[in-house]
Amino acid sequence: MKELHRQVPATAGWGAGLARVPEGSDLDLDLRLESVVEGVLVSGTFRARVNAECARCLEPVTWDEHADIQELFVYPPQDARGYRVEVEDDSEEDAPPAIEDDLIDLEATVRDAVVLRLPIAPLCRDDCPGLCSECGALLAQDPGHGHEVHDPRWAALEALLDEGTQDKHDPVRDTARDDEKDD
Ligand SMILES: [Zn+2]
Ligand SMILES: [Zn+2]
Repeated sequence: MKELHRQVPATAGWGAGLARVPEGSDLDLDLRLESVVEGVLVSGTFRARVNAECARCLEPVTWDEHADIQELFVYPPQDARGYRVEVEDDSEEDAPPAIEDDLIDLEATVRDAVVLRLPIAPLCRDDCPGLCSECGALLAQDPGHGHEVHDPRWAALEALLDEGTQDKHDPVRDTARDDEKDD
């Protein structure tokens, strides 16, 4: 058994929906490599930085994702004398990953583990109020935000109200003016 700590850059294309691991960002891997009959069992944990947009307000959100991995990497098939032999069912879909030229390629294992954990609708905070549906304002920055709602059922009454204010005249003053003209 061997323990291993590695810091490696993330490769491109680690994302799902609104969240992604930026290409080139650091991945921290704490691994245990165990020799088993069929190959090497790799288990451990990793930490990856995730950048996302909040699904409600579209503001950037960042967090560290931690996950466990475990994968068996098998030795390539050999004959009795230890020579590698080519087998026809090499491309079998469910076949465990193989150790190629004494190297274990963890990229697919770690990528799959992190992408599966990415939320479909990331939130900047659980109670994010999102954006105003009328004007798109950030409601978190403007808690009292709102718009005067005009109910179409009151439109006729509003029109009457407008008419009333426009035709406003003061009967007393009108009479007084008439009196002045008479003088
Ligand atoms: Zn938000
Ligand atoms: Zn608004």
